[in-house]
Amino acid sequence: MPRAITTLPVGVTWPAKPGVTLLGDAAHLMPPVGQGANMALLDGARLGQALAAHPGDLAAAVEEYEREMFERTSAAARHSARIQEMLAAPDAARRMLAFFQPSGR
Ligand SMILES: Cc1cc2nc3c(=O)[nH]c(=O)nc-3n(C[C@H](O)[C@H](O)[C@H](O)COP(=O)(O)OP(=O)(O)OC[C@H]3O[C@@H](n4cnc5c(N)ncnc54)[C@H](O)[C@@H]3O)c2cc1C
Repeated sequence: MPRAITTLPVGVTWPAKPGVTLLGDAAHLMPPVGQGANMALLDGARLGQALAAHPGDLAAAVEEYEREMFERTSAAARHSARIQEMLAAPDAARRMLAFFQPSGR
């Protein structure tokens, strides 16, 4: 049974390349704690918005999309890594209980 969870490094970015970009797990594979699909759906919506805002300028659209996506998904990946670390800790139950207290976050 596999014992490792593979992710991309938190905060991974790349230099903009004309006419190509990534979205979803290909861009920001993170621990499966409830963020990946949500981020992927938002990526699609944001990319669509950027394309609509820059008709005829694909490079500008991709740059705008990637700027927002890198920032948003880095925050989600950091959060997911923190939860994953809690879930894998020997005292996971105690830490999760504390996390769900109003002041535990
Ligand atoms: C156990 C688990 C629980 C999760 N729970 C949640 C959750 O509660 N909430 C949440 O938001 N996210 C959750 N996620 C994360 C979520 O599943 C992913 O972030 C999301 O599916 C990513 O979507 P995607 O379209 O980028 O990639 P994928 O869903 O992986 O889709 C990629 C598709 O491309 C296909 N493909 C790959 N290579 C090729 C090729 N060469 N040619 C053609 N097709 C190809 C694959 O077969 C696949 O269908 C969970 C993940 C796991 C593993």
